[in-house]
Amino acid sequence: MPLQLTFVTSAKHHADLPDTPCEVAFVGRSNVGKSSLINALANQRQLARVSNTPGRTQLLNLFVLPTGGTVVDLPGYGYAKVPGRERAGWRAMIEGYLLEREGLDLVLVLVDGEIGPTKLDVQMLDWLSANGVPNTVVATKIDKVKSSKLAARRKELAAGCSLEQGDIMWVSASKGAGIEAMQRHLLALLTP
Ligand code: GDP
Repeated sequence: MPLQLTFVTSAKHHADLPDTPCEVAFVGRSNVGKSSLINALANQRQLARVSNTPGRTQLLNLFVLPTGGTVVDLPGYGYAKVPGRERAGWRAMIEGYLLEREGLDLVLVLVDGEIGPTKLDVQMLDWLSANGVPNTVVATKIDKVKSSKLAARRKELAAGCSLEQGDIMWVSASKGAGIEAMQRHLLALLTP
């Protein structure tokens, strides 16, 4: 069943987000397929475009479900062109959110199923673990991997994240693979 997500607000600081009983956050490198995945989970074409609107890409974007549970779309990391000062601002915003947000239950770290994990993905995973922030890896765009290469790719991606393959959610927003399982999982997590 699609997640009935409604966009609520964008904020620069987590203190400006509404209170939540339970929340799941999405984070990942720019272009990893985050907007496409959120749209697929909600079965809405335009939803996460909100987050991709210029000016909002660098903010925390919050969506709510009818259950009252919330989803936060975090700005993508790894834009090579972003100057150091802005990167530092990104870090402070994201780290503040991840460390201090009340009600945050799980961080979904999106990793490109074809090429991941990147160095930045591994840094993010290490940082989350070091700080005791619960996280799950979601491997995106798995339709881009040839079926003859899939087993090896899954093994390589999992090893790169220091995880077992079974701990990772494998999805394709364009083909729909893994989407229903993820919808069920998130609905359960986001029902207080
Ligand atoms: P974001 O920057 O993380 O929000 O990434 P987008 O959702 O905008 O996707 C980046 C690019 O990857 C776009 O060209 C998408 O069409 C493509 N993409 C996203 N998800 C998939 C997928 O599941 N399969 C394939 N083949 N391409 C995808």
